[in-house]
Amino acid sequence: MSTSSIKITPSHLLSYYFCPRFIWFIYVLSIPEYEERRYKVQKGLEIHESRLKNNPDYLWKKISVQKRLGKASLQSDTLRLSGIADDIAALKDGSLAPVDFKWAVYPDYVYPGHRMQIGAYGLLIEEIYQKPVHFGYIFYIRDGSKVVEVPITADLKKRVMDSIDNILKIIEEETLPPIKQKKIRCLDCTYRNICVF
Ligand code: SF4
Repeated sequence: MSTSSIKITPSHLLSYYFCPRFIWFIYVLSIPEYEERRYKVQKGLEIHESRLKNNPDYLWKKISVQKRLGKASLQSDTLRLSGIADDIAALKDGSLAPVDFKWAVYPDYVYPGHRMQIGAYGLLIEEIYQKPVHFGYIFYIRDGSKVVEVPITADLKKRVMDSIDNILKIIEEETLPPIKQKKIRCLDCTYRNICVF
């Protein structure tokens, strides 16, 4: 399948990090994740939006920003990336920082997939606004709130770029990726009944 018009999104990166085979099922075989999961995600998004509308400032008090640039639709042909950042913070040192809201309880560490997402927004912001990006912030807004700072390092940026190449390769070559993650993930997987082990 030609990938010339495809731009990778943070949602692709999250799926890829859960299991590379998700990319194959969703984008090569066009089998979407099942309804119940989509319903839960949609419900979470609605609650999330309503919380943000009703409490626009309650999380921002936890970090020191000079200005909020707001929600932004970002895309780059060079990076082959696109995404909608929940917000962008202009920091006092002149750098910018992506802000991502998660309707989730902070699990005591940042999931690798979420780290990749914030790294992807960082790359996009750096290229589009031509300003340095050193950190991103994830606001976990379920059962209270927690703001976590994520360093956007050269290593993280490289991992994002490598993942984009790998995702595009899966779609282009239409090859079933090998299973790399622990099989325990398969127990709760949408595709467990049709996945070939
Ligand atoms: S069943 Fe396991 S290997 Fe297959 S897509 Fe799901 S997580 Fe990946």
